Amino acid sequence: MFGKILIANRGEIACRVIATARRLGIATVAVYSEADAGARHTRLADEAWPIGPAPARQSYLSIATILDVARRAGAQAIHPGYGFLSENAEFAEACAEAGIAFIGPPAAAIRAMGSKAAAKALMERAGVPLVPGYHGEAQDLATLAEAAARIGYPVLIKASAGGGGKGMRVVGHAAEFAEALEGARREAASSFGDDRVLVEKYLTRPRHIEIQVFADTHGNTVSLFERDCSIQRRHQKIIEEAPAPGMDPARRQAMGEAAVAAARAVGYVGAGTVEFIAEGDAFFFMEMNTRLQVEHPVTEMVTGLDLVEWQIRVAAGEPLPLPAERLAIRGHAIEARVYAEDPARDFLPSTGRLAHLRQPREVPGRVRVDTGVRAGDAITPHYDPMIAKLIVWGEDRPAALRRLVAALGEYEVVGVRTNLGLLRAIADHPAFAAGELDTGFIARHAAALLPPAEQPAAAEPAVLAAAALAALRDQREAIRAAARASGDPHSPWAETDAWRLNGDGYQDLHLRPEGAATALTLRSHPLPEGGVRLDLPGGPVRAALEEDAEGGLRLVLDGVARRLSAARRGAAIAVFLAGHRPCTVVLEDPLAPPRSETAGSERVTAPIPGRVTRVLVRPGEAVEKNAPLVVIEAMKMELTLRAPVAGVIATVSHRVDDMVEEGTELVTFAGPSSSAAG
Ligand code: ADP
Ligand code: ADP
Ligand code: MG
Repeated sequence: MFGKILIANRGEIACRVIATARRLGIATVAVYSEADAGARHTRLADEAWPIGPAPARQSYLSIATILDVARRAGAQAIHPGYGFLSENAEFAEACAEAGIAFIGPPAAAIRAMGSKAAAKALMERAGVPLVPGYHGEAQDLATLAEAAARIGYPVLIKASAGGGGKGMRVVGHAAEFAEALEGARREAASSFGDDRVLVEKYLTRPRHIEIQVFADTHGNTVSLFERDCSIQRRHQKIIEEAPAPGMDPARRQAMGEAAVAAARAVGYVGAGTVEFIAEGDAFFFMEMNTRLQVEHPVTEMVTGLDLVEWQIRVAAGEPLPLPAERLAIRGHAIEARVYAEDPARDFLPSTGRLAHLRQPREVPGRVRVDTGVRAGDAITPHYDPMIAKLIVWGEDRPAALRRLVAALGEYEVVGVRTNLGLLRAIADHPAFAAGELDTGFIARHAAALLPPAEQPAAAEPAVLAAAALAALRDQREAIRAAARASGDPHSPWAETDAWRLNGDGYQDLHLRPEGAATALTLRSHPLPEGGVRLDLPGGPVRAALEEDAEGGLRLVLDGVARRLSAARRGAAIAVFLAGHRPCTVVLEDPLAPPRSETAGSERVTAPIPGRVTRVLVRPGEAVEKNAPLVVIEAMKMELTLRAPVAGVIATVSHRVDDMVEEGTELVTFAGPSSSAAG
């Protein structure tokens, strides 16, 4: 067994591999690009080594750099994760030449499956069923068009070297073939540096069902059963499950045997996935992925195995930990991929800092969250925008689905757009519950699943009440902090509630749900028994905040308590109230200064990432308390940052048009002036 391994990857998969290595007592070496300094995977590993700039070509794809680190760190093996170098035969060979074990299949097997066309030719000889199609050498228009006519329209043109759902064109009629071919070739050449294509019958309502296989160096090859990955967008998976709904034992066995035959045909070793497309009772080979798959956790949940442990043991020369007869499926598992992307804008990735992140609570064996980020980390344009994978297990599919719905409801992400709304809508959809899965699911149910691009602002009264109470609480805390900073904790200010400052006994809050044009004014009256009376549009309610049993917050409205989490960024309050759609409410014209301006601080920082639009002061200038200093524009809002104290400006660190991160220092003071307390 290895004493130390290097993980040539980042994000959740690097964290995932490190977890197993640690459990096995194997030391770990993480690598990171400049964009990933301090990332979660670098902190979990025993060592973390820099490998270059953010672009993957100069870091995570640099074979020479990674092997150099492996040698210097004394790693005996490299786990490539998925993506990046995991299906790169040259990398597998370079590892062997350097005397370092590659935790993956032999280079020859990677090569054999690297071209979809060559792999199909090989599978044909091994007797594995194929989608009717053409995967020959000749690439001229006449040959391909004739093949398409023979197969029968609609057909699918696929890049032989393709992956990740790229380089595919569906062609409905012969008249469109030539143009589609040209487009597919162009895309294939630019994405994969190889313009060869194949043509397949395009199935109109297929399911994507794949078989997890495992082989060792002692001649054992087994099937670890199937996963259904039919819920896709842009031909890429977003929800996967095991077992496949409706799978019967005879078909499972037939597919397992076909997959094992495919693996044996290329002398496979380690973890691999044979992907099939299925329609009716028929199933056809699509491709083999010669690596650990993103969705491997659903197989782990239903088999009780650790596939990364199996990979490491096999790479170390051990036989498979269990023979085929001892493998079985227990219960049902579903994985949902949480992406920073905007389903309303054709799934465009969304980058930015995760200003607030709360993930579902993990329950061993039941709810698992595989993630590579923490609150405060950035989703950058350099890599995959996946935030996390949520995996749930239940005794049967309905039980797993219930847990999925509940766990998705616990997710709180602020700072980037996510597909969480779409995932929740799928999990709630009756057709999904009924197991009516096929790759057209999202497109077919788009009206029910995808929100219109311009969401109408949700102004649910309970959410407004939650925002109001969160704002009042912040105000009170700011005043207490000010009292503490004034050096007199016994000052009456320290215990005075914000609203009493008005004398009139009430306070008006101006709340504008993000996206809405106008703010709503809510009047709040303090109640002698604690809490406030809020004049909501539908009538007055008694509202208060209380702590739940775990130190979290609950909003109590007329006696009914609901879990609440409110994340404040400047004037924006993201409200997560159990049972309600998450909503951001902007506090307009707040009576108390925003947090970044609390008295007592002598530096002003940006409360959210944004662009500097105005700089209103210069070093040496004397300003009054609350004087405007800098204006930044962020998330379509303008924020004026004001002087927390009266004093003299020491430094102004940014100019108009500078981009600033959350927490960036903008202005510092030369020390409190004598009138600072005023
Ligand atoms: P990639 O390498 O991008 O994963 P695949 O060949 O595995 O490419 O196909 C990706 C997805 O495209 C499949 O999961 C399926 O949804 C769809 N697809 C592939 N082949 C066909 C086909 N012949 N008919 C219909 N859909 C297909
Ligand atoms: P596939 O869709 O090919 O069957 P997966 O669902 O496992 O495979 O992964 C989706 C695609 O995204 C794969 O083509 C994989 O190579 C790519 N991918 C996944 N993770 C990363 C990553 N961290 N960096 C780069 N590419 C990745
Ligand atoms: Mg695939």
